[in-house]
Amino acid sequence: MITMADDQTPIPPVPTEPVPTDPTPTDPGLLGAAPAGAVPHGAEPHGGGLSQRLNWLRAGVLGANDGIVSTAALVVGVAGATAERGPILTAGIAGLVAGAVSMALGEYVSVSSQRDSERALLDKERAELATSPEEELEELAALYVAKGASPQTARRLAEELTAKDAFAAHVDVELGIDPDALTSPWQAALSSAVAFTIGSILPLLAMVLSGPALRIPLTFATVLVALAITGAVSARLGSARVGPAVLRLVLGGSLAMTATYLIGRLLGASGL
Ligand SMILES: [Zn+2]
Repeated sequence: MITMADDQTPIPPVPTEPVPTDPTPTDPGLLGAAPAGAVPHGAEPHGGGLSQRLNWLRAGVLGANDGIVSTAALVVGVAGATAERGPILTAGIAGLVAGAVSMALGEYVSVSSQRDSERALLDKERAELATSPEEELEELAALYVAKGASPQTARRLAEELTAKDAFAAHVDVELGIDPDALTSPWQAALSSAVAFTIGSILPLLAMVLSGPALRIPLTFATVLVALAITGAVSARLGSARVGPAVLRLVLGGSLAMTATYLIGRLLGASGL
């Protein structure tokens, strides 16, 4: 099972440039972090809005993918061993619940620690501003110079923004965090559980609504079509090429279902 936020890189304490945050789907935390290939951070003023929504959407699509693949592989495996609907349905529902809970838990833990580290960075910045405002002003000006402003312009900009809201200016340029938009771990947990459940329902329905003869081919077909759609959608959302994304998902899904089906057949035939 893919936990969506496993590979978040913690933000280094005081980067000299805004760090483009890893656009992992579950990283709606660093809201506004644009997916690779999209508008780089800083190119749009307070550009959190759109890319934030896109990140959520991507997280949802990936959670659904997860539900589709793991539940499909589970029910196909059981269907390889038995033609009875009861055990297939039981396994499918148990898999759905187990997956949704584990996704929610993983997401909760990952977003919580993400938020903790963001809060720690914000506190550190606040403290630095209180204790050494002059150094902080120079630091801010230097960051604008690094972005391409002339020293005079950078200094003026730093002074103006410091006069207006020093904390906001530092947090934006140094950390790339929007302090008002830290992700709620509960919200992240709930949405990944919902996404996983929606994805799981698809193979479950295909499996239990069709007769024994059609069950497996129909589930395969439903799952591959669904994966092609989610693959295309998530590629479009990330401005990536659609073809390879669809191919990877469809191949991965086929592989998972074929493997569990064969295992189910073997175990079923062995009479275990
Ligand atoms: Zn600073």
